[in-house]
Amino acid sequence: MHYPTEEEMNNITASEVAGLGVGTLLLCCTIAAPKIDSFISNSQRSSLGMCKTCGDLRMIACSKCKGIGSVKEGGPLSFNMMDDLYQSLGGESKAKAFKCTKCRARGHFCCPDCSEVPSV
Ligand SMILES: [Zn+2]
Ligand SMILES: [Zn+2]
Repeated sequence: MHYPTEEEMNNITASEVAGLGVGTLLLCCTIAAPKIDSFISNSQRSSLGMCKTCGDLRMIACSKCKGIGSVKEGGPLSFNMMDDLYQSLGGESKAKAFKCTKCRARGHFCCPDCSEVPSV
């Protein structure tokens, strides 16, 4: 039986955190990039009335899939963590990933407070 060393545990945690950080960063870039112009002009025009929910990005990240658009099959957290680590090393995921049904795999919703029309 091989017990993970403290260093290995730290690596898993670091990988998990890094993956989450990159995912969040990508999500922010993906959402913000086409919205920069409107975001700036909107915030300039209504600097006192920015949307409290989304900051005038008109989108909010999906809470179910955390903006990724897919959800992994339920399982022990440790398994998912190991699977993420395995994937980050170039392996194929052992866990099945499903399209997020909450956001229809888009990873985000239109902000309910300031955007009634779904953007493409
Ligand atoms: Zn989702
Ligand atoms: Zn909003």
